[in-house]
Amino acid sequence: MPLDLDVLYNCPSCGEENAIGVDPTGGRRQHVVEDCPVCCRPLVFDIVIDREGDALVERIECE
Ligand SMILES: [Zn+2]
Repeated sequence: MPLDLDVLYNCPSCGEENAIGVDPTGGRRQHVVEDCPVCCRPLVFDIVIDREGDALVERIECE
């Protein structure tokens, strides 16, 4: 079982720093919807896995 990557982000709604778990086997570009654990707003993440296997949050939107 590959471990999820933890990617840090700042919530665009409440501004708090959180981490989202990304499955690196899920593809080079991933679209993930997850609620902010602080303000509970649904957030839409565009996540990119780079060549080294690191995950980057390219864009975050409040739904
Ligand atoms: Zn938040």
